[in-house]
Amino acid sequence: MSDTVFDRIIAGSIPCHKVYEDAQVLAFLDIAPLSRGHTLVIPKESAATLDQLSDESAAALGRVLPRICRAVIAVTGVKEYNVLENNGRGAHQEVPHVHFHIIPKPDGAAGLGIKWPTGALGADAAQLAKQLAQHLKSAER
Ligand code: AMP
Repeated sequence: MSDTVFDRIIAGSIPCHKVYEDAQVLAFLDIAPLSRGHTLVIPKESAATLDQLSDESAAALGRVLPRICRAVIAVTGVKEYNVLENNGRGAHQEVPHVHFHIIPKPDGAAGLGIKWPTGALGADAAQLAKQLAQHLKSAER
C-alpha cells in the first residue's frame, strides 16, 4: 500500500485545508501555492499517475473538477486559471499520487508560468494518430 503525503491527508493523519470531499475525491489548498486559491484535487484511490487510475475514480474526478474550478473563480475573483496534472518525476511530479492542480492566474507574474517550446507535426502524424486510435480500440480496462 502506498503511503504518500496525500495518502496521509486522506487518512487524516496529516491536516489539510479541505475544500471538498466525497466518497472518491478530496480537494484541499496547496501548502505552497503559486497563487491565492491554488487547490489540489485528488482521487482517494492510490494511483501514482493518471494512466494507472480506474475509470471510476477518473469519472468521479471529472465530475467535480469543473465545480471546484467554479468555486475557485467565485471566491478568488480570478477568472483565468490553469489545470495541471504532472506524471512522473521527469514531468515535475513530486508526490506520486494523482493530483490535479487548479491554479488561478491573476496576472502575468503570479500563478503558473509555462514554457511551450512548440515543434512541427511530424510526417508520421497520420500513422501516429492511427496507431493511437487502434491501441485505444484494443485496450481494455
Ligand atoms: P507536483 O509537483 O505536481 O507533484 O505537486 C505536488 C504539490 O503538492 C506541490 O504543489 C506541493 O506544494 C503540494 N503539497 C505537498 N505537500 C502538501 C501538503 N501536506 N498539503 C498540501 N499541499 C502539499
